[in-house]
Amino acid sequence: MEVKFLGVRGSTATPGNEFSKFGGNTSCTEIIHKDFQVILDAGTGFTDISIRKDVPVLVLFSHFHFDHIQGLPFCRDLYSPDTPIYFSSALVSKEELKGILGGCFSPHYFPIELVENLTHIQYLEFNEASKIIKSFCDVKSIDLRHPGGATGYIFENNTGKFCYLLDHEYDDESAPTIINAARDADFILWDGMFTDEELKMRKGWGHSSISQGADFLVSTNAKKLAVCHHSPYRNDKEMMILERDYAKKNLFLAREGQIIKI
Ligand SMILES: [Zn+2]
Ligand SMILES: [Zn+2]
Repeated sequence: MEVKFLGVRGSTATPGNEFSKFGGNTSCTEIIHKDFQVILDAGTGFTDISIRKDVPVLVLFSHFHFDHIQGLPFCRDLYSPDTPIYFSSALVSKEELKGILGGCFSPHYFPIELVENLTHIQYLEFNEASKIIKSFCDVKSIDLRHPGGATGYIFENNTGKFCYLLDHEYDDESAPTIINAARDADFILWDGMFTDEELKMRKGWGHSSISQGADFLVSTNAKKLAVCHHSPYRNDKEMMILERDYAKKNLFLAREGQIIKI
């Protein structure tokens, strides 16, 4: 199992040279496996993804803030009707998922009725979606503290355990459940949008800090953690200062295009 970062930026995309080292696309992560393809969220990083035709393809949404769905209609491969693609989210039922995406990509906000045009997409309840990849990998969901709700996903098979934990406000109340779920993980993708200083001013905004990620890594006894959902106000120069201050051999700041082997 490999994890590829296609979009590591939070909130809004950041084009421009000063963001090019870490990347400016919003949330999209691919799990690469010979028997399936899982795509986590469809931010602007979704635009360039190659959707496979030889295996089941499952797109899982953590929630529906714009930075996690903006890229959805712009991936050309999505329009190929001969590829079976499944959409699901543990946050909502399949009908709600269809309704939310249909509402966001309808003529008030988008030129075409996306859901009506993509008739080959199959919407699944999360328990049905998990069965699609069950023989190769177990996937569980975990509720995360985030305005409007969000879901994390935990993937585990005989090669390792990967925890996708973006968009959450980590605190003492939520810690025991999340630590338990991520215990002994091989790799964790963490919402480190803020520094501790910024976090003081952003209570209730639904995000965590880089140093909370460092603590989480120790508390879970996990092998490796990547800080992700980078602030759109942080350019490469500032990111590299944070990297210098926080990075250790098992904690790093995610960069677009990077692939992590699990
Ligand atoms: Zn987000
Ligand atoms: Zn969000």
